[in-house]
Parts: sequence; structure tokens; C-alpha cells
Amino acid sequence: MTPPAVPAALDPLVGAFLADPDRVRDALRHFGSPLHLVFPQVFTANLTALRDVLDAGRFGYRLCYAHKVNRSATFARTAATAGISIDVASARELRSALDSGFTADRIEVTGPKGLALLRTAAEAGVTVNVDNLWELAELAELAPELPVLLRVSGFAGSAPSRFGIDLADIDAALDLLVRSRQRLLGVAFHLDTAATGERVRAAGDCLSIIERAYARGLEPTVLNIGGGLRQVFTTDAAGYDAYDDALRAGLLGRGPAMHWGSSTFGYHVAEGMVHGGPVFHKYANTRSAPSILAELLAEPLPGHGGRALGAVLADNLLDLWLEPGKALVDHAGITVARVEFVKRAGNGATLVHLDLSRDTVTAADQEVLIDPIVLTDAESSPTGVFFAGHLCLERDLVTQRQVRVEALPVPGDPVVFANTAAYHMDLSATRAAMHPDVAKVAVLQRDNEFSLFPEDR
Ligand SMILES: *Cc1c(COP(=O)(O)O)cnc(C)c1O
Repeated sequence: MTPPAVPAALDPLVGAFLADPDRVRDALRHFGSPLHLVFPQVFTANLTALRDVLDAGRFGYRLCYAHKVNRSATFARTAATAGISIDVASARELRSALDSGFTADRIEVTGPKGLALLRTAAEAGVTVNVDNLWELAELAELAPELPVLLRVSGFAGSAPSRFGIDLADIDAALDLLVRSRQRLLGVAFHLDTAATGERVRAAGDCLSIIERAYARGLEPTVLNIGGGLRQVFTTDAAGYDAYDDALRAGLLGRGPAMHWGSSTFGYHVAEGMVHGGPVFHKYANTRSAPSILAELLAEPLPGHGGRALGAVLADNLLDLWLEPGKALVDHAGITVARVEFVKRAGNGATLVHLDLSRDTVTAADQEVLIDPIVLTDAESSPTGVFFAGHLCLERDLVTQRQVRVEALPVPGDPVVFANTAAYHMDLSATRAAMHPDVAKVAVLQRDNEFSLFPEDR
């Protein structure tokens, strides 16, 4: 049996670029293989779609692009030119933001910060989204004039977080702010979930903190709901489900094995059943970031007479801040590699060897459940293959699952990994085995022509 296909969703612009395989081969010849390609025009389109949702509300807002999803200077410059703000999480990201044209008033530093980063932030005069009480006390000494947000965590019903100030410690933080006369801009949270209910509960808790701040004479005006808006990876949710079913059947021995070796993708098999949840669940999402945001804004807030979040913000003259990362780069990047050779393994599996490693295209412990796109002129019947990486490590299988290919590729054929701009490209790119860093090239479409611009490395 050949595995069910899980086709990647492509932005039409990226689809047009890939429509001519010679263009892809030329790019590899010119800039080397493997190659990350970023599409700033797709970033801009994603931004416009989010702005359209926000513009429909009566409240002010600020979008802070979360730089950590991708190191690309192209994306940072695109965000700067579009007039939005940026969220940075390290001194080098802060440097990158300044180099990309962001002024200090449009830069926010989040995440846990050591003394060095606090000093850099203070020198630059940027807004600090405070992660903990230690940081707040340090800032009171170091730079009491800096505007701050308090990042809150510990909401009922949310997973425990290592970030933020626990709800129980918020009053201590507010007291400290009053004593140090720091300016509290607002209250923030960031949840990595698609669950609207959880976000609404967090927003409600933060609004009540804002009330408590006013009672102490502070004047916060911002509710920052962080990032976490989802990406859409596949055009075919049914294909995803069919694959998942085939994978489970294989794990149970009731069908051909889709998995490599002892990989279980987070599932465990016991008593003739497959239990647990897979590591690739987010690849099944079909709801766009703008629709998730629109739903959140329309959701009634408990304790506010059933008024929607968006209306409560407007009524209280509060600004909404968001820190989207992956939603802004959704479909705005692909990674292309070349086939080195194809071989048969001892277990009968077909291995398609590529000139990149697994962690150039895979986020941390996840298995990507969308199919790489093979650009080949070869003709054969559809078959299932594993893609293998170029590191001398057993675990460097780019896919630990069988992927359906319509025809078996030959050496030199490009293989495209779709939608790698968020966390896949840059989160863990390996330096193992002395392979060079993968080049990043921006692709611009003008009058149906594509121009390629390599980024500095
Ligand atoms: C990572 C992160 C983001 C971006 O999250 P996405 O899920 O990519 O939108 C935003 N805010 C904070 C504080 C983060 O740590």
C-alpha cells in the first residue's frame, strides 16, 4: 500500500514560483543546496489579513512581530516598513530590530532576561515585557524610566508555564511599581494554544489586574495577548486523517508500517489499542489566524455582562497588543534540498537521501505531517519513501514516516519542504558534521517575474 498523501498548502505566489522546476533548479545552482527561500510579499499579505480583523474593532492596537520565529532580516525589514512593532527575545534580535529600521518605541523585549539583556534594553530605551519579580526589581534600579508591561501566568485551566509572574504574585509586582514610580503600560500573557476559551479566561484575569492597578494609582492602557495564532499547513484535512489512521493501523500491526523502526510519534501502543496524542497535531489545523483572532474578539467575557472582548477593550479605552510570530510567516518560507541518491534499506524501505539534515526543516521534537514536494521528470508509479538526511547519525531521518511520492526521484531532483518559515528553518539548524549554514534568499515577484536576493549571513 502506498501511504495516503498529505498535501502541503501553498500560497499562490509560492505555488507560482514552484510551477517552473527549472527556476528552482537554477536557484539551487546559483545559491547552493539546501536553500531557505523567504517570501516577504506573503508576510505582508498575512499582516494585511490580521489588520483587517483588528481594523473592524473600535479599539486601538499594536502588532509586534515575534522575531524569534525566524532570523530573516527580510521579514524584520518588511515588518519595519509596514509600520508595525517587533518583539525581541535576545540582544542580537534587538540589534537586528534596530538595524532593520525599528525605532526604540516600536521595540518590545520579552522572555526571560539576564542582567546583560536588561542593560542592553535600558540603553536602547525599549519597552520591557517583564517576566518575573527579580527582573522588575532590577529594572527599578537600572532604568526606572523604562515603560514596562507585566507578563502574567498561572491562569486556571492553562498548562503551567515557566514564564511570567504568577497570578498570586501580581499584587507584589504592582506594589513594587508604585514604590519605584515605574510606568506600567499594561498587562501581558502569551499562551501557546489554539483554545479560545483559555485565552478569554486569561484576558479576563488580566483585565481585573488592570482594575487593581488603577486602584493603586497606576494607569495601564494595554492588554497584550501575545502570539499563538495558528498556521494552516495542509489543504486536505481528510488526507491528514487518512494518514493518521494508516499510521495507527501500522503501529498496531494491522496494516503496513508507516513508521520507521521504533518511532511512535508520541503514541503508545498497549492492549491492542493506540493511546495518547501525536506530536504532529498542529499540522491538522484548518482554521486561519485571522478567523481565530476574529472569534477571540467576539467572545463574551465572563464578568463583563456578556460583552465581547473587543467591545470591552473599546469601552475601557484599552489598546490591544499582539505578538504574532508564526501567523505572520505562515506560508512565507520554503526550504529546498537536492536528492543525493536513492537506496533500499535492509528492512525493505526506500530511502531518498537529501543534502540537508532533519533539524533544518523540523521543529524540535515534532514530526512534520505534510508531504515534501518532489520536483522530478522521472516517471514511475506512486510509492512510499523515507527521506534521509546527510548527517552520520541514525536519527537523521528527515521523515520518520513513509511519505507518498507520485514518482521516485533521481539524484539532483529538488525536494521542497513547504511552510518552514516559522520555527522549522531556524529553531535548531544544526552545525554538526561541519556542514555550512544554510543560505537564506528572499524571493520577490514583480510582473510575474521572480527576483532572488541573498541575505547577509
Ligand atoms: C514565541 C512567542 C511569541 C510568538 O508566538 P507564535 O506562536 O509564533 O505566534 C509571542 N510572544 C512571546 C512572549 C513568545 O515567547
